Amino acid sequence: MPGKNIVLFGPPGAGKGTQAVKLKTLLSIPHISTGDMFRYHIKNNTELGRTAKEYSNKGKLVPDEVTIAMVRERLGQDDVKGGFLLDGFPRSKPQAEALDNILSEKNRRLDAVVNISISDDEIRSRLSKRAAIEGRADDADPAVIQNRIDTYKNQSEPCLAYYRPKKIVKDIHGIGSIDEVSARIAAVFA
Ligand code: AMP
Repeated sequence: MPGKNIVLFGPPGAGKGTQAVKLKTLLSIPHISTGDMFRYHIKNNTELGRTAKEYSNKGKLVPDEVTIAMVRERLGQDDVKGGFLLDGFPRSKPQAEALDNILSEKNRRLDAVVNISISDDEIRSRLSKRAAIEGRADDADPAVIQNRIDTYKNQSEPCLAYYRPKKIVKDIHGIGSIDEVSARIAAVFA
């Protein structure tokens, strides 16, 4: 079984958030979602929130330096000492490199990148459903959805090429019921 320093990776709509909730319970580790952190700041209208809103409303990534500083601070907290489940970070190669640096400063390393994959058509259909259910501004507009898919392909997917040679990527087929997908993920950590 890999260790518990884990990244949950995949395109928007892959089910990262849903699966993270299950996996954090299974492994008893904190769930760190950068999307949730940004939404919290946006809701509370903090300075960070105002910056994040400018980008997330358009389906763009919040700038690396802002995001990396936020994650660095979070990974400095005591509850992550026994492991963590990062959801939605890293989303760019500079973020992946920064994560390695943050961890190596603590004599730690990443143990697994759980890569949930689904097709582009499935992404579109899931995000438009989520817009109707959750009212997320960044899920509602087809142009924003397309931006998020393009951003994933151009900026986030290169993280996989960065991680593959390290032999820590665990590929998970993301189509199926929530329980089917979570059983596939649980099998990695059995
Ligand atoms: P999510 O809930 O993970 O889809 O994130 C919602 C939005 O927050 C994204 O579309 C980005 O604008 C922003 N965001 C979340 N995580 C990151 C990240 N690692 N780097 C940059 N922006 C992010």
